[in-house]
Amino acid sequence: MSEPAISLRGLSKAYAGGKQALKGIDLDIPRGSIFGLLGPNGAGKSTTINILAGLVNKSAGSARIWGFDIDEHPRNAKASIGIVPQELVFDAFFTPFETLELQAGLFGVPKARRRTMELLRAVRLDDKAHVYSRTLSGGMKRRLLVAKALVHNPPVLVLDEPTAGVDIELRQLLWDYVRDLHSMGTTIVLTTHYLEEAESLCDRIAIINHGEVVANDLTSILLGTTGDKVLEVVVDRDLAAIPPALSGCKAIELQGPRTLVITYDKRHNNAGAVLAMMAAAGLGVIEVSTREADLEDVFLELTSGPKIQNAAA
Ligand code: ADP
Ligand code: MG
Repeated sequence: MSEPAISLRGLSKAYAGGKQALKGIDLDIPRGSIFGLLGPNGAGKSTTINILAGLVNKSAGSARIWGFDIDEHPRNAKASIGIVPQELVFDAFFTPFETLELQAGLFGVPKARRRTMELLRAVRLDDKAHVYSRTLSGGMKRRLLVAKALVHNPPVLVLDEPTAGVDIELRQLLWDYVRDLHSMGTTIVLTTHYLEEAESLCDRIAIINHGEVVANDLTSILLGTTGDKVLEVVVDRDLAAIPPALSGCKAIELQGPRTLVITYDKRHNNAGAVLAMMAAAGLGVIEVSTREADLEDVFLELTSGPKIQNAAA
């Protein structure tokens, strides 16, 4: 098995002001995936990306890009990744053409191997190649940053909130291009807080909240299409903890003193069996509702509710 495209171990960041933005992130992003890093504003997505980009120094832990540790082999690590930052930062007095040439120079791409016009065509900016970048619209700037991230032909492309401020039509264009890159072998990582975007694009999704990974799975599993069902049960007494007798389910959350949200795999389990487990635990059931899980549920459950307890699946 090849090494992950990106591998994070115990990655932590405390900002100078004392803000603990990352609290020990463990994450493997497989090669060849389109990976969504999701989380609400302030979760730590950009901090993670910016550590990979070398823009933020981590406080602890390690990060490997394409097998290269960012401390031990910073040049190889940097050469393996292209990053489109969340903030639209670049020199407004360069043209898109110059911006890409300059970046290629920074990465030591020899003139003969530069793809400046090819990249500008790919992001539909070839007709803007020689205008000042400051005259570009927000969407055009974003696309220029995508091209800029690709000048050294990295195997991994990371896009931090790529559609922020990009209008719908250009958003589609951006995604088409990202899909093309992916089909040609580039591993794609994107952060977003738009769930629909991640649902349609990503094959795997990790959700982070308050600097911690709270979920990491195939999108199809997170979406419940492979069998997850959610059962919400109101019981007849207050619960201080989740009864151990309910361990046969995939995930159980105590959502209120009397409300249990139980996720089970409908291929191996059913509502009747779950309710029988409740009875065996000595709990009376007052109310039951059931539904398929969707990403929004998963996201909300993981990022807003009380602490999740995962029993063995
Ligand atoms: P996200 O990209 O998921 O919205 P960020 O990584 O930007 O989250 O931020 C994570 C946390 O770190 C937030 O609480 C944010 O306010 C804080 N933070 C981000 N950048 C800085 C900084 N330069 N100095 C201090 N705190 C920061
Ligand atoms: Mg961010």
